[in-house]
This record gives sequence, structure tokens and C-alpha cells, in this order.
Amino acid sequence: MISALSWFSSLGSLLLHLDSNFVTSRFLIALHFFKNRMLEITALKEILADPKHIVITTHHKPDGDAMGSSLGLYNYLIQKGHHVKVVSPTDYPVFLHWLPNNADVVIFTEQREVSKGLVDRADLIFCLDFNTLSRINELGELVRESSAIKVMIDHHLEPEDFDNYRHWNINACATAQLVYDFIVNIMHEPGLINKDVASCLYTGIMTDSGSFRFPNTTPEVHHIVASLIQKGAENWKIHQLVYDNFSADRLRFLGHCLLNNLKVFPEYNAAMISVSQAELKQYNIATGDTEGLVNYALTINGVRLAALIIERTEMVKLSLRSTGDFPANEICKKYFNGGGHRNAAGGQSDLPLAEVIEKFKSILPEYKNLLLV
Ligand code: 5GP
Ligand code: MN
Repeated sequence: MISALSWFSSLGSLLLHLDSNFVTSRFLIALHFFKNRMLEITALKEILADPKHIVITTHHKPDGDAMGSSLGLYNYLIQKGHHVKVVSPTDYPVFLHWLPNNADVVIFTEQREVSKGLVDRADLIFCLDFNTLSRINELGELVRESSAIKVMIDHHLEPEDFDNYRHWNINACATAQLVYDFIVNIMHEPGLINKDVASCLYTGIMTDSGSFRFPNTTPEVHHIVASLIQKGAENWKIHQLVYDNFSADRLRFLGHCLLNNLKVFPEYNAAMISVSQAELKQYNIATGDTEGLVNYALTINGVRLAALIIERTEMVKLSLRSTGDFPANEICKKYFNGGGHRNAAGGQSDLPLAEVIEKFKSILPEYKNLLLV
């Protein structure tokens, strides 16, 4: 006897092959859910074959990979006739505002009702460069409750189970690499990688791979990057727009931090830079201005673990970077309510800045053996 479930399942497959004029896209999508919580790629392709309302979102305080992969996917999807918006949970650095079609990004904290409307109307929500809904703040609950199909494209460890289709690989150097892979090898549409898509994806790969120098910058990554340049990404110009686009204040702030706030712990091969609210104000530090600061501490000969501890308005934010096998993400997860990759991780604390600094220092003896190898 055919069960009700398999009957509905067969009906779902049948309706998928009918002209979409006969059934609304919502009904089609609802049937898909009934059929299978996790979507097959063939089903996702069929859903993407007709224009849909699509929201792309990424983690709060987006970086080059978050915005590059989101706008890269945006510039691909609009060519297929979809109604697409990128909804960012918060603002992001000015040096990313040149990205093609940046004007079409909606910032949740600045346009809450517009953002809610977009999530409400969405048939699909693409979640890029994050894999736990807590990383998108208040937007997380809206996404969780939405009946839209959720597609995760990401390269972080330990994904939460909220998606219906997943293109996830922790070995990818950037989410932008996975978006490239999605367009070229899953959707089989390399022809839709135009100059706008290429420029966005180049930016994501460049920033997340530390300008092509981290260990996950494989030969394949270089092949992808070569193809993006061939498709029109102006590599030299993108480097300039992202890395040579700071205020004089920001450069003086860097000098101040390195001269006055850098502490080195040679007995643990560790270094730390801390920054107070007052210093952020003194130098007019804006979103993105502290990005990359932690890497200076890692350039010291012998240092295996570098920390940047910043007193933000709502909490104290930590950024850790490490070399080799040292698990920076373990410290963030265990002590600072965070996580991330082995060599680049982050977290936060509600304690006052001075106490967070002491807490970080007090953790070093536990990791002494790993730090001194
Ligand atoms: P950053 O230090 O640049 O803020 O973050 C580096 C990496 O650490 C990010 O790519 C992300 O994977 C991770 N990360 C940063 N902050 C958090 C956090 O609060 N929670 C978690 N789970 N991961 C974080
Ligand atoms: Mn990333």
C-alpha cells in the first residue's frame, strides 16, 4: 500500500515538472518540505529555475569574505531574474563599500522593518560565511522561524542544523571559494561569472586567505583566482581599494597600539594588544579599522598565539590568531563564548577590559606546552 507520505512525495515530484504557471512557487516549495527536509541539488536547481524572492545574509560585522561572497552570489542570482537582497545584520567597513551593487545591501540595525519584510517574503534564504544563527544576532530568530528554504554556504566548524541545503567545506580558504564552486561545479553556470561576480569573489578569497598566504591557499585556489582575474577582477585595484584605503587617524591608531599597548610574553610565545573605549574614540575608530591589527602581534619572531582585546560598547571582543596546530578556537570556545577556525578565532566577554586581559594571561600556562613546541 502506498503511504500518504510517499503519495505526497510523488505528487511533489510530478508538480515539479509542471509549468510553474500551474502551481504557485510557495506550494511547490511546501511540497518539497513535505517530501524531504534536506533538499537534493536537483530540487534546489528546479526551484532556482524560476524567479524567486531571495534573501542573502551573512554574519554580523561582516568582513571581506562575508560581503564578497554575499554580493558575489547576489550578482550571480540577479542575472537569473531573481528578486534578491543582501541583508546584513550590522554595518561593515567602508573599504568594502565599493563592491559591485553594494547600494542594494539592507542593514538590519538601520532598516529593521524593511529587513523583516524581506525575510517574510523570501522563498529562499542563503546563509553565507556563518553556520550558527547566533552569529546573525536578532536576524537569527527571524531566519529560524521563516518558512523559506535555507541554503548554507560556509567553511566554519560545527554547523548548527537549521538549513535545507548545505554547501559546506572547512578546507575552503573562504566562503567565496565555495560560492565559486557552487556556481561553476554545482549550478554548472561558469558563464554567469561576470566582472561583478568575479570582483566580489576575488575580494572574499583575498581577504580570508591573508592575501593568498594561509595554508589553505591550495593550487586549486590559485586556479580559481586566475579564472576570476580572467573574468575581469582587477586584482591590483582590489588590493588598493581594500588595503590602501584608510584614514590618517587609523594609521596613527596603529602606531599608538604597537608602541603603547603591545605586550609580549616570550615565556609563552604569545603576544597581546588591548584597546580601550577611550582610545577608540580618541582616534575616531570606525567599523573595520581594527581589522588586521591582531596580525601585527603574530609577526613577532617566535610568537605562536596573538590576541587582540577590544573594549567595545556592548562587550569586550577578543580576536585570536595562531600558527601551526595551535587551537585558537579552543580557547575562544572554552573561555570566551566564541569559536572559529584553528588559526583564526574570536569570542567575547561581559567582564571589564582589565579583567578580560587578566583572564587571557591566566590561561597561557595551561597551553604552555603547545605554545613552546
Ligand atoms: P575575528 O577575529 O576576525 O573577529 O574572527 C575570526 C574568526 O573567528 C571568524 O572568521 C569567525 O570564524 C570566528 N569568530 C569570531 N568571533 C566569534 C564569535 O563570537 N563566535 C564564534 N563562534 N566565532 C567567532
Ligand atoms: Mn570566511
